[in-house]
Amino acid sequence: MKLVLFDIDGTILWTDGAGRRAMEGALVAIFGTPGPSSYRYDGKTDRQIVRDLMREDGHDDVAIDARLPTVLEEYLLRLERELSREEPQVHRLDGVLELLDALESRADRVLGLLTGNVLPGAERKLRAVGIDPGRFRIGAFGSDHEHRPALPAIALERSRVALDATFSGDRLIIVGDTPADIHCGRDVGARAIAVATGHYSVDDLSAHGPAAVFADLRDTAAVMQAIDDA
Ligand SMILES: [Mg+2]
Repeated sequence: MKLVLFDIDGTILWTDGAGRRAMEGALVAIFGTPGPSSYRYDGKTDRQIVRDLMREDGHDDVAIDARLPTVLEEYLLRLERELSREEPQVHRLDGVLELLDALESRADRVLGLLTGNVLPGAERKLRAVGIDPGRFRIGAFGSDHEHRPALPAIALERSRVALDATFSGDRLIIVGDTPADIHCGRDVGARAIAVATGHYSVDDLSAHGPAAVFADLRDTAAVMQAIDDA
């Protein structure tokens, strides 16, 4: 049995900036500034994004922690608005549905999520591209921990409860589009499958030593094989 945990942004779907606009709007509403525009959101958790940006803007952790829940509430309201706009922006990435279907058809594969999104944000984004969040039986989210490397252990613990089975870390396959996805599971011995549908190229991702790297997830058979081999 293997647990296959998917990142969301840049891996399952592309929000075309909707997530960032929602977060920047929330930060402006609560802190009065969106923080430095050069900051990269990909690979980060939502809470980490708020902390990093507001620290750079001179706020201390006490002030950030005090306002963090309000920022995230505001973010979710704005995300809902962004995702329901008329013009097409958020879209599912090629091959994802076929891959999810193929994994679900296997009794020895369990679908899950490992994402920096807070849980309600993850669900909203998935629904926006027609994917039922209920398909993912295990999940570790940005609302569980601010640091992505803490999430694989949380996913393992949840799988023990949800599936009534104990998994070693090397049964964990993390599918993601950033070096942070590749590195986050190292401590528990997880394997990473990288996909270059975010901001990082195949070469960028290869340099971080994933078990496999793909330009996209369109070749279902090849990705399934890589998961078997990882
Ligand atoms: Mg991502």
